[in-house]
Amino acid sequence: MNILTRPQAPATAAQDWLEQFERAVARRDDALLASLFAADSYWRDLLALTWRIQTIAGATAIARELGAAARRASPRGFALAPDRTAPRHVTRAGIDAIEAIFRFETAQGRGTGVLRLVPDADGAMKAWTLLTTLDEIKGHEERLGQSRPSGSAYARDFHGPNWLDARTTAAAYTDRDPAVLVVGAGQAGLSAAARLGQLQIDTLMVDRGARIGDNWRNRYHALVLHNQVHVNHLPYMPFPATWPAYIPKDKLAGWFESYADNMELNYWTGTGFEGGRYDQTTGRWSVTLRRGDGTTREMHPRHIVMATGASGIPNLPDIPSLNNFTGTVLHASRYQDGEAWRGKRAIVLGTGTSGHDIAQDLHANGAAVTIVQRRSTMIVNVEPSAQLPYALYDEGPPLEDCDLITTSIPLPLARKSHIMLTEQARKLDQDLLDALERVGFRLDFGDDGTGWQFKYLTRGGGYYFNVGCSELIVTGEVGLMQFADIDGFVAEGVRMRSGETVHADLIVLATGYKGQDALVRKLFGDEIAASVGPIWGFGNELELRNMFVRTPQPGLWFIAGSFAQCRIYSKYLALQIKASELGLI
Ligand SMILES: Cc1cc2nc3c(=O)[nH]c(=O)nc-3n(C[C@H](O)[C@H](O)[C@H](O)COP(=O)(O)OP(=O)(O)OC[C@H]3O[C@@H](n4cnc5c(N)ncnc54)[C@H](O)[C@@H]3O)c2cc1C
Repeated sequence: MNILTRPQAPATAAQDWLEQFERAVARRDDALLASLFAADSYWRDLLALTWRIQTIAGATAIARELGAAARRASPRGFALAPDRTAPRHVTRAGIDAIEAIFRFETAQGRGTGVLRLVPDADGAMKAWTLLTTLDEIKGHEERLGQSRPSGSAYARDFHGPNWLDARTTAAAYTDRDPAVLVVGAGQAGLSAAARLGQLQIDTLMVDRGARIGDNWRNRYHALVLHNQVHVNHLPYMPFPATWPAYIPKDKLAGWFESYADNMELNYWTGTGFEGGRYDQTTGRWSVTLRRGDGTTREMHPRHIVMATGASGIPNLPDIPSLNNFTGTVLHASRYQDGEAWRGKRAIVLGTGTSGHDIAQDLHANGAAVTIVQRRSTMIVNVEPSAQLPYALYDEGPPLEDCDLITTSIPLPLARKSHIMLTEQARKLDQDLLDALERVGFRLDFGDDGTGWQFKYLTRGGGYYFNVGCSELIVTGEVGLMQFADIDGFVAEGVRMRSGETVHADLIVLATGYKGQDALVRKLFGDEIAASVGPIWGFGNELELRNMFVRTPQPGLWFIAGSFAQCRIYSKYLALQIKASELGLI
């Protein structure tokens, strides 16, 4: 093998590429820039060069956009990040590549990125994917580790307020309004509020629950999380190493409560956000908060971060004959406890996660349950199949490297890798899937076989991580009915097209929730809802719509998703709000 074609060591190849890249950027040489990228390549920027979250595809478009962005942001100092996972050979979305984490700076900030190199036909290493992310704004760094606050303001001051006094005053908001109001104190709200607090932005988080963590406490009795603990950390405070692989709901609820206190978050519980109006002239919202004692408080924050999860507006199916039923009808959001239904007959409409979980809970409590399937559903065993996408987090790199690597996969490659993972899960779960089909359960595997992850990212549901209900359906312990076989609802239950009547005392509508769009319309009115447009899902874009980014409505932001998404993207959400407060964007 001659020296020109001998494969380079990953570090050398990555360092060489970064040097050429820096040269192309410094010389404003877009032709050289284009020549560094594979034809079929992607550049994803999280704020560092564009103050946007965006993905650009193809060498020509990348050179054009990146070249223009670089002229504004003046990036320089590209070098391998010495304290991060070393450059190495990896396989991503079925392609072998060299993967390297690098650092750089711009005129306004410092950043980190991930480069993936693949050889072209001549053996020259070209960028297949490039990620550039902003870590911090110069002069506004987080006060962490060595630069942690000294505490001198209230330490051992026998005359002044102590830490607790200062915290109580800060959270009371008697004489001021916050710059940011975060609505919702689930993982999305907590992550956002913690990040904003670290950036010294005055932030109040409100939740209508009586205690932080009630969003988990009030879920079904047997709930333990679906993903393993090491994927689910909140920012700054990882779960203890002693914790079980799957966290039980009340343990998590307790952690949420202590997280809010330990991260010094200002929060009001028992407080509902009832809506707001935006004043273009002052750049402030007028919002109404209803406190637990029935009083209201009007506030004027500059920003509202909606972190309300799926707990918005229940989606009630339009089934006129349901009014004929004389028993109890509940939406899944109002279902609490199977104990009340011991010895009774229940019909659960819907085969997503809630439908299966409620059916299993009712069954465990001695009710006779039938689940009704309206649409085909994806079924994945919670272990090992549902854990496959998180394999990286088991491979050894520290959490922040895993998060960066996860962020660096552009949407088209994420799709490809989820098609592969779905195939793998399907093989692992073959026996269960066959058995379900034998009893008439209709399965699917997502659009183009992209699986549950893309169902989540596009529809927010349509799948079930099997924790035992599928076996109950296979054995007939939980009955199965197809919605298409139902003629209509009658006083005593359901009349089938066959003429048979299935009796019920309870009908649970596990039919999901209306999207965030409907909530925005309810809380902010038609005009703002129309200007913001669809929230979540992709449309024709390569990024989630209106999520974690500036929306068309100034001062209105959205955060949602898994623990990992909230942990990762809360950082960029907070950096954008900080930049907006500083007048940088
Ligand atoms: C069985 C099960 C297991 C799961 N396991 C995992 C897992 O392992 N990993 C994972 O990432 N996800 C998991 N999930 C998904 C997870 O539940 C959701 O992703 C999560 O709840 C979303 O968090 P959130 O902060 O966006 O919203 P939520 O948890 O729904 O929190 C929203 C909060 O907003 C509040 N709120 C809403 N409207 C208002 C208002 N107008 N005023 C004031 N407060 C308001 C609500 O009271 C609520 O507390 C699991 C779900 C289930 C059911």
